[in-house]
Amino acid sequence: MSDCIFCKIIKKEIDSKIVYEDEYVVAFPDINPQAPVHLLIVPKEHIESPLEINEDNKDLVGHVYLVAKKLASQYGIDKKGYRIVSNCGDDGGQTVHHIHFHLLGGRFMTWPPG
Ligand code: IMP
Repeated sequence: MSDCIFCKIIKKEIDSKIVYEDEYVVAFPDINPQAPVHLLIVPKEHIESPLEINEDNKDLVGHVYLVAKKLASQYGIDKKGYRIVSNCGDDGGQTVHHIHFHLLGGRFMTWPPG
């Protein structure tokens, strides 16, 4: 998608501090962090939202959770815990329409979210 900001980050057309990359995903800090650790784990394939997860791409989600686990350990948030969030659609609070998973940690998370 030529006008998708996350596609541009993935293709390195715009600057971002990529902290993890493999064949399937990249991870970089959220520009507006909501916790001491706030990374976005973003599949390279342009999937609009969790609504587009299907039989063909479902393994990506498990992969994201393994990458999150690795990053949580690397950032020292694995012992006390962390949160993984994927906002879906307008009511879900999704603002960038390229599927992504927020990895948040380093503080106590309240529930329910706002
Ligand atoms: P959403 O609201 O769940 O769709 O999350 C989108 C996230 O992307 C927000 O937390 C934004 O702060 C973040 N974001 C938007 N543009 C950029 C960027 O260029 N670099 C890093 N994070 C971004």
